[in-house]
Amino acid sequence: MENANDVNGAGKCDLCTDDAKIVLPYGPHKYCHSHFIAFFEKRIRRTVRQQSLVKPGEKIAIGVSGGKDSAVTLHLLHGMISKTNEIEAVMIDEGIPGYRDVSLEMGKELCKMLDVPYTLVNYRKEVGITMTQIKDAIDMQPALGTTCSFCGTFRRHLLNKVAFEIGAQKIATGHNLDDEVQSICMNFFDNDLKKMARLGAVVRNKVDAGLVPRIKPLYETPEKEVIAYAALKELPHYSDECCPFSYQAKRNYFREMLNNMENELPGTKFKILRTFQQMKPFIEPLGRGVEISYCTRCGAASNGGSCGTCRKIESLSAIHRFSAKQEKGRKLSCTTTKNM
Ligand code: SF4
Ligand SMILES: [Zn+2]
Ligand SMILES: [Zn+2]
Repeated sequence: MENANDVNGAGKCDLCTDDAKIVLPYGPHKYCHSHFIAFFEKRIRRTVRQQSLVKPGEKIAIGVSGGKDSAVTLHLLHGMISKTNEIEAVMIDEGIPGYRDVSLEMGKELCKMLDVPYTLVNYRKEVGITMTQIKDAIDMQPALGTTCSFCGTFRRHLLNKVAFEIGAQKIATGHNLDDEVQSICMNFFDNDLKKMARLGAVVRNKVDAGLVPRIKPLYETPEKEVIAYAALKELPHYSDECCPFSYQAKRNYFREMLNNMENELPGTKFKILRTFQQMKPFIEPLGRGVEISYCTRCGAASNGGSCGTCRKIESLSAIHRFSAKQEKGRKLSCTTTKNM
C-alpha cells in the first residue's frame, strides 16, 4: 500500500461501507474518495482556523504557479474565504520555456474558472534577466551558485512587491508538509536556527517596511495527498515534468531522504513538524530583532546595504552582459499585467 494512492483490495472505508480507495499509512486511515476529500478539506480548514491565517476583510494575494499545490490552495481559499475576503492570484514567469509558460496557462484557466483576478509579472521585465539566461551564466561559472538560489530570491522579492502594490495584507503560498519539513531539515543540517525560527504556517513580516506576511494553508498536508485531491477534484493544474533546472536543488537530497524515511516509518514527516512546533517558541527570538534598512539600489527592504535580489544581479553582471539599460529598467516600478 502506498501513501494517498488509489489501491485495490484495501478493504472498506473507515467511515462508510464503500471500498477504500485511498490508504494513508501514517494514521492508518482508509477512505473512499468522498471521505478522503472531506478529511483533506477539514484538515486545511483546521490549519487556517487554528493558526489564524486569515482575518475577515483582509485582501489575500495567492502565489499561483499552475502546479498542484497552488491550484489546491487557490481552490480551497476561494471556497473558504471569497465571501469575506478579496483574493487575487499573483503569477510569476521565470522565463523557463516549455515549463513555466505551460504551467501558467493552467493557472490562468483555474483563475478564470473561479473568477479570480490575477496579476502576471516576469523576470525578464522585472529583474532584467530570465532563468534560462541565469542557467547559462551558471554553466559558465558554477561558483555563482545554484539556479534555485537565484530563482527563489527573485520570486520572493517579486511576490512581495506585487502583493504590496495590489494592497494585499497577506500572501498565501502552496507550501505543503513535505516542503516545510524539507526546509526544517535543511536549516537544521545547515546549523541555521535563525532561518529555521522563521518557518511555520505564518511568516510574520514587518508590514511597515513593505514586507507582506506569508501564510501556508497546506503546511500540514502531505504532498501525495495534494496530488490525489487535485486529481479527484479535476482542478486544472500542471502535472508533467518538474522544472528542468531543479536538478541543482539541494532540496532534492532532503526530499529523497525524507520520502525514504516516510516509506519505512510512516508518520515521520508529521513527527518532524510537531517537534519543530514544540521547539519554535524557544528558537523564535533568534529570528527577531533583525534591523530592517532599505536597499541602496532598488529601495526594497533589506538587512543592510543592497538587498538579496540586487546582490544576486550584481554577481551575474560580470558574466552576463547585463547592460546599464537593463539595470535602469529594473528600478522602474513593477510593470504588471492585470487580468479579470
Ligand atoms: S526548481 Fe528552482 S529554478 Fe526551477 S522554478 Fe523552482 S526555484 Fe526556480
Ligand atoms: Zn467512505
Ligand atoms: Zn535591491
